[in-house]
Amino acid sequence: MLEFHNVTKRYNNGKFAVNNLNLKIKKGEFICFIGPSGCGKTTTMKMVNRLIDITDGSILVDGKDIKDQDPVALRRSIGYVIQQIGLMPHMTIKENIVLVGTLLKWTKEKKEERARELLKLVDLPEEYLDKYPHELSGGQQQRIGVLRALAANPPLILMDEPFGALDPITRDSLQEEFKKLQRELNKTIVFVTHDMDEAIKLADRIVIMREGEIVQIDTPDEILRNP
Ligand code: ADP
Ligand code: ADP
Repeated sequence: MLEFHNVTKRYNNGKFAVNNLNLKIKKGEFICFIGPSGCGKTTTMKMVNRLIDITDGSILVDGKDIKDQDPVALRRSIGYVIQQIGLMPHMTIKENIVLVGTLLKWTKEKKEERARELLKLVDLPEEYLDKYPHELSGGQQQRIGVLRALAANPPLILMDEPFGALDPITRDSLQEEFKKLQRELNKTIVFVTHDMDEAIKLADRIVIMREGEIVQIDTPDEILRNP
């Protein structure tokens, strides 16, 4: 589903943020990238959805090199959730969830139906559809951010510390909710975190990065056995 072949990113200041990354992620797999701040996790995610250019190497999504794809079309086929989800403050929750529907020229009815269907996936009552983001707690807003990323039904979802700003209790419940969701929907997930407990809880495989390089790839069980 997602392949990295000798992927390198050097920023204009000459710094190698990512250095010769090689990895194959299978369909339906839940991969956590973990490593200290500045090790290149966000850079890696942003190369996949072409928010930044690759310096060297190639990334394949579903067998196709992303450099041959229109960046806008590519981004529509990849869900993206970040810590600062940035819901549109002047739009209702419903409008926020199906934001992508405008690009895809969905009818009003289709948007309405999809928003209702998506809201059912999380633990929020239907009346939330007509609320505005500021009326929701941080955890509730983050759930909406996840739903927004699912709206166009992308097979691949990138999540960059999506629950990082939440209090531990909200975070725990969102992790559980999301893991269940991922199993049901059979999505391929690449999840960035700097929290090993979170990675162990969620991942099928954990990719440990340091200074732009992968230093270890193991299952949570293997990591628990040989920490
Ligand atoms: P992480 O997500 O693991 O915290 P990043 O991918 O954000 O790491 O950053 C990797 C390295 O690249 C860091 O040393 C960071 O300072 C550097 N970096 C990130 N963005 C830029 C940029 N736009 N220009 C120059 N250097 C950058
Ligand atoms: P940052 O450096 O703060 O992560 P970006 O320039 O990457 O900001 O993104 C700006 C905004 O655009 C983000 O709030 C994010 O929600 C949105 N965005 C970025 N990439 C995507 C994407 N692939 N799909 C949907 N929204 C995106």
